[in-house]
Amino acid sequence: MSSTSPDGDFSDPRPFSLADLPIRDDLRGLTPYGAPELKVKVALNVNENTHPIPEAVARSIIEALATQLLTVNRYPDREFPALRDSLASYLGHGLTRENIWAANGSNEVLQQILQAFGGPGRSVLGFPPTYSMHSIIAAGTGTEWIAGERDAGYEISPQTAVDWVTRTDPDLVFFCSPNNPTGTAITLDTIAAAYDATDKIVVVDEAYAEFGLAGDPTALSLLPGRDRLIVTRTMSKAFAFAGARLGYLAAAPAISDALRLVRLPYHLSALTQAAAVAALAHAPEMLAMVDDIKRQRDRIEDALRELGYTPFPSASNFVLFGGVPDSHELFEQLLERDIIIRDLGIPGHLRVSAGTEDETTAFLDAMRDLTPSR
Ligand SMILES: *Cc1c(COP(=O)(O)O)cnc(C)c1O
Repeated sequence: MSSTSPDGDFSDPRPFSLADLPIRDDLRGLTPYGAPELKVKVALNVNENTHPIPEAVARSIIEALATQLLTVNRYPDREFPALRDSLASYLGHGLTRENIWAANGSNEVLQQILQAFGGPGRSVLGFPPTYSMHSIIAAGTGTEWIAGERDAGYEISPQTAVDWVTRTDPDLVFFCSPNNPTGTAITLDTIAAAYDATDKIVVVDEAYAEFGLAGDPTALSLLPGRDRLIVTRTMSKAFAFAGARLGYLAAAPAISDALRLVRLPYHLSALTQAAAVAALAHAPEMLAMVDDIKRQRDRIEDALRELGYTPFPSASNFVLFGGVPDSHELFEQLLERDIIIRDLGIPGHLRVSAGTEDETTAFLDAMRDLTPSR
């Protein structure tokens, strides 16, 4: 036991670190989610919506919060019916309140899914390179992470998905479409084939769904008749609501019943619920920026291709590009110019989020400067 003096002096000559704690064996040596949080003028590293929410919408959210504040002495509504109604009508596809569940970001939704359907002795199959939080949440819930392999161009054909599901027999299958960090979408055929190949849970993380082409297929259309399929969404990206923390899912009603067993009581604050309902009432204005973001994304793709890089076609608000001789060096050179993008440790590749028009211009100008003509 280390001793502290009564007045709380923690100066101990012996450094005490994480490694000294009696932490779970399966967490030893792991690293936490670690996107750098640097104060940089042009931040294009975590796929945030770079456009602030319109002022008129902000005002209406503030009014909703002000009203809600008068009753925060009480616990919030555990079942958040108003928010689930708003989310269901936003999604359409014939969904109702019973099909919707929400939490503090889709990361929490994913965690609840793994708490209910994964856990020690169970496994989840994913297809890297993919959203780093999928394997981190698996680790946090003691669920074994199985890394499947993609086809060329980061695609996953129905056959590839079925082969991996059959071979590894996981308790859950995680897809991410459009996929972070590659920007590539998978077909509904792949999801349907994976679903038919298992009697377990299949999750499709559609965090970037709103950035696809109009009429792009969404796994929401697969939900009827598929009671083990879960589609997760978030207000963090298209809705410019990352700081408010609101993620959700659409699935058969029984899925929410499973998550009710693991969620903390009153997990969604009354203020979060009120803010999200108010924002959803302004969905068209909130989503008006999405078209501009898509324009900036297309600009990035075109300009990087012209410069000789190999951007992957993106259905999201970011672009992964290859053909970088030294990705670490280019990352640092951009940082020196007050621009941060993302180095995901994929050799020769970097990822950049679409910015406002000015931010995107700053990034592309810097790239022109930093790219030797070839
Ligand atoms: C950004 C992102 C999320 C969003 O997580 P929140 O907790 O809702 O902010 C979820 N999935 C993927 C693939 C993402 O890139």
